[in-house]
Amino acid sequence: MLQVGINGYGTIGKRVADAVRAQPDMEIVGVAKTRPNFEAESAVEKGYPLYAAIEERADQFDDAGIELAGMVDEMVEAADVVVDACPSGIGAENKSLYDEYDTPALYQGGEDASVGETSFNARANYDESIGAQHVRVVSCNTTGLSRLVAPLREEYGIEKVRATLVRRGGDPAQTGRGPINDIVPNPVSLPSHHGPDVKTIFPDLAIDTLGLKVPATLMHMHSINVSLESEPDAQDVRELLESQSRLFVVPEHMDIDGAGKLKEYAMDRGRPRGDFWENCVWGESVSMEGNDLYLFQAIHQESDVVPENVDAIRAVTNTADAEESIETTNDALGIGF
Ligand code: NAD
Repeated sequence: MLQVGINGYGTIGKRVADAVRAQPDMEIVGVAKTRPNFEAESAVEKGYPLYAAIEERADQFDDAGIELAGMVDEMVEAADVVVDACPSGIGAENKSLYDEYDTPALYQGGEDASVGETSFNARANYDESIGAQHVRVVSCNTTGLSRLVAPLREEYGIEKVRATLVRRGGDPAQTGRGPINDIVPNPVSLPSHHGPDVKTIFPDLAIDTLGLKVPATLMHMHSINVSLESEPDAQDVRELLESQSRLFVVPEHMDIDGAGKLKEYAMDRGRPRGDFWENCVWGESVSMEGNDLYLFQAIHQESDVVPENVDAIRAVTNTADAEESIETTNDALGIGF
């Protein structure tokens, strides 16, 4: 059993911990937090050994009556792999800690690409991370774009991707984020950082991205145009997308008109935290005009990177190939409807 430590137990960290625990070949050796709060309390309730990320603050856990298993260094030493899910920039600061114990580490999309030897997406470039020591799992939006680009590129060839990303202002628990009542080009100049980030996965891909922020917390929405190198009909493209395990092509009969109903559906289906690990592509939106493909897809920012982190654990430890890992992760989590 692979022993996995999670450093940073917030939105992404707690989801990755639960996903790791669900795998047949992995165990949680511990999770590390900087301070006691509701997430620390529920980690202990779930039976995860809880480690203090900052030694000077360890007393705060005692004061809150939350039992610690030790300090973060002990967790890193005991782990076969650490998933760093700390806020952007902190992961890079933690790198020396992982090196000290020679423990391979995964970082999240908020870090600069330079934090890792490679950037990771299971569908697109799993093999590049096999045996690597430091790997960055790309952001939610880059994951969503990469999952879509990979099969289109293989099947039809891509001349150029143009994507407009309508981004949620913040996650539901991020009360300080915004805008509250505005529609903000963000950034106002081209390109948004997403296009260059997708190129960490597909270095020779032609892609332009524009970003906006809107007063929503549920999901991101992508308006996509891909100029293909051939002219398949829309039905063929739709069938190709339907065959991808982490793309959910939303059928017309479901009458799902937006992110609100998508999240409602995830909750109706008993998904933990109402999570949507798959890209959600509106089937009706898949259209061809000449060689131009158009579609809309929604991306659940808090959870689409979760299965990718699980696969990246198997890649760095070289314990499964891409196909095996994706299948094991999907089965363990219940990905696909
Ligand atoms: P978060 O703020 O919800 O969680 C981060 C956790 O790390 C918090 O519990 C924080 O207290 C803890 N922390 C802070 N400093 C620490 C330290 N030195 N050691 C250990 N723990 C520490 O953040 P998040 O949304 O989970 O984001 C984490 C990473 O994932 C970022 O790189 C982010 O860009 C990326 N990401 C976030 C999302 C999203 O939508 N939330 C999506 C994809 C990727």
